[in-house]
Amino acid sequence: MSIRLDGKRVLVTGGTGGIGRGLSHAFAGAGAGLVTCGRSDEEAAARMSRELKEIGGEHHVVLADVTRPDQVDTLLEECRTRLGGLDVLVSNAGAISHIPFAELPLEEWKRVLDTNLTAAYLLISKALPLLSDGASIVLIGSRVATVGIPLRAHYTASKSALIGLARSLAKELGGRRIRVNVVAPGVIETPERPLPDEVKQRYHQLTAIGRLGSPAEIANAVLFLASDLSSYITGETVHVDGGI
Ligand code: NDP
Repeated sequence: MSIRLDGKRVLVTGGTGGIGRGLSHAFAGAGAGLVTCGRSDEEAAARMSRELKEIGGEHHVVLADVTRPDQVDTLLEECRTRLGGLDVLVSNAGAISHIPFAELPLEEWKRVLDTNLTAAYLLISKALPLLSDGASIVLIGSRVATVGIPLRAHYTASKSALIGLARSLAKELGGRRIRVNVVAPGVIETPERPLPDEVKQRYHQLTAIGRLGSPAEIANAVLFLASDLSSYITGETVHVDGGI
């Protein structure tokens, strides 16, 4: 059971670790050409390059901070020169912190909003000339955006804004058959961030399926939305959360 994306040109941000690493493996494994980036971890970027080389194909890993307009320009230039354009754009890089709202400093509010929301604006607006007609944009949101959770008001505000962004852009870009969707993960365990057993148990009880999700399960939904199998789905939010 696998989706093939041979010939598709893909950008995944934040692909050197966590869910983005799983997304990058999945796109490369499906035959897509891939550019991905981390922000600053050179070791993780080098590891990702090695892993992608093993899978084979046209893949490039760079360091670029998606909150910085000049670095987004550089990242997209890499997509243009290496891939010749983009058919799929996945805005995945994200930031989170756990702070009571009453103590939340403006700088932290801005850091989280810049990474989760403004970076998506920068990426999409700057990528428009590169995106093919019929391209697919996938924004990685979060299940908690529409549920709410204490200590993460800034995070949930930024992630729920992605839903409105996708709904409006779907309408604005639909003339070019560009689709814009959100994938909203529940609690995903990544090799980089193993959770303590007691936290895991609590989350197990919160999900209908009784376990945490994996990056590969997020990738399955993202690949579906990136593929022509989802050609009539746009402006939608797909929750991949095991039934929270
Ligand atoms: P991680 O923090 O593990 O992701 C790390 C990746 O993002 C690294 O490659 C990191 O690079 C990169 N990154 C971070 N900030 C930037 C930036 N400003 N510019 C470029 N790259 C950046 O996150 P997860 O994998 O856990 O999450 C991925 C996405 O999924 C996020 O949007 C998150 O909000 C969302 N999500 C995650 C859930 C989970 O349970 N994990 C649940 C719901 C949503 P470097 O290491 O070099 O900084």
